[in-house]
Amino acid sequence: MKDRLQSDLLKLAGTLAITWAVGSLVGYPYQLLTLVLLAMVVRHLRQRSKALAWMGSEDGGLPPPEGDGTWAEMFDALYELQKANAVERQRLVNSIEYFERSFSAMPDAVIILDSEWRIDWCNRAANQWLGIQAPRDFGQYLLNLLRQPAFVRYISQRKFDESYFIPSPRNPAVELELRFSRFGNNEHMLFARDVTKVRQLDQMRRDFTDNVSHELRTPLTVITGYLETLQDQRGLIDARLHRALDQMAAQGERMKSLITDIIWLSRLESVPLDIDEIPLNVRELAESLQREALEVANEQRDIAIVVDDDWLLQGSHKELYSAFSNLVFNAIKYTPAEAKITLIWQKTNFGATFTVKDAGPGIPPEHLSRLTERFYRVENSRATASGGTGLGLAIVKHIMQRHGGELRVSSILGLGSSFVCHFPNSRLASLDKLQQDAS
Ligand code: ADP
Repeated sequence: MKDRLQSDLLKLAGTLAITWAVGSLVGYPYQLLTLVLLAMVVRHLRQRSKALAWMGSEDGGLPPPEGDGTWAEMFDALYELQKANAVERQRLVNSIEYFERSFSAMPDAVIILDSEWRIDWCNRAANQWLGIQAPRDFGQYLLNLLRQPAFVRYISQRKFDESYFIPSPRNPAVELELRFSRFGNNEHMLFARDVTKVRQLDQMRRDFTDNVSHELRTPLTVITGYLETLQDQRGLIDARLHRALDQMAAQGERMKSLITDIIWLSRLESVPLDIDEIPLNVRELAESLQREALEVANEQRDIAIVVDDDWLLQGSHKELYSAFSNLVFNAIKYTPAEAKITLIWQKTNFGATFTVKDAGPGIPPEHLSRLTERFYRVENSRATASGGTGLGLAIVKHIMQRHGGELRVSSILGLGSSFVCHFPNSRLASLDKLQQDAS
């Protein structure tokens, strides 16, 4: 750059020197110098106006104009730059087209949303499944086009790690699974796929489980009924058969519990959550669980209750009873008589927790993540002896999910376990507020 300036200045000095010399020869050095300088200024002005006209031209693709002198070099450099830009732009256009073609070929709907939830782009399937059409709907707010109240609620909760299911606005017989993922500067991508077949199969599986369980219930009731009668009349039966009789009765009871749990789980999967109007008084529930547990335990047990009475719990009383009682009875079943059990209800920064804490033997860490799987047991023999079904914690997990919460388990071998049910703020009702409303 410095070299160029130097050579331009040298050229200018040379031109002026020659002009001066020629001017001196003919006797008009000043006049000739002024004339040459004027000619140079006019030439620059002409080139400048050409350059401005080119820059302002509507067609940005036109090559730069012909120039002379230093302007020619500049126009040449601009031309090279323009060519390089055109190549780069074509490369970008090709990649955008490639991206659009591949997304358009997808059978799933893809919608790209800006940080204000306006539609930036969508593929062809977005029209087929959601009625959102490119480019007609670009710039529209997504919630103006998909207005189902449940969908609006889902968006406002922003719990996008979970899928959401809606009937297709274009065809209510089609069930769609929606998934959001966040990227960039709070932009979102919405994916919608047709899961009608998967959901139908799932429903068939649930119906089958439900039917089988109900069908098994009747014969099992008859069998256990006869077994009870035989046990009542054991004096009439050969003593060698007593053990077999007792085992049959115990296994019969176990099968009954299994069927009851399977039917309950299947209900939890298929029936929407029914929230009781009156919030649950957690102290009352904890006290009744304490009474029942003491009755069930064959030995003396120490069950303590620590409850924050300021907060009540909103949800299905029946389901919450089922979840908490599973945890309390597990604590009785899997810990020795001397191990203390504590039921704790407390407010936290994010909501509230109901904890069943025991000072039992604890659970080895490798089992913790699998405890809520159906039929998962830490130790088969112990669980079978305890009459457990392996479904209790799966039921608790499901109930917690239905209430917008989750179950977390922690345990230290030799010290005990804590089963903590976390509830979000939206599930809490303040006692103060309820009393104010009532008065
Ligand atoms: P089950 O019907 O067998 O009790 P659950 O799903 O309720 O099934 O529990 C799964 C397993 O977790 C149990 O088999 C038991 O091994 C273990 N478990 C549950 N609660 C406790 C506890 N408080 N202490 C130790 N182990 C426990």
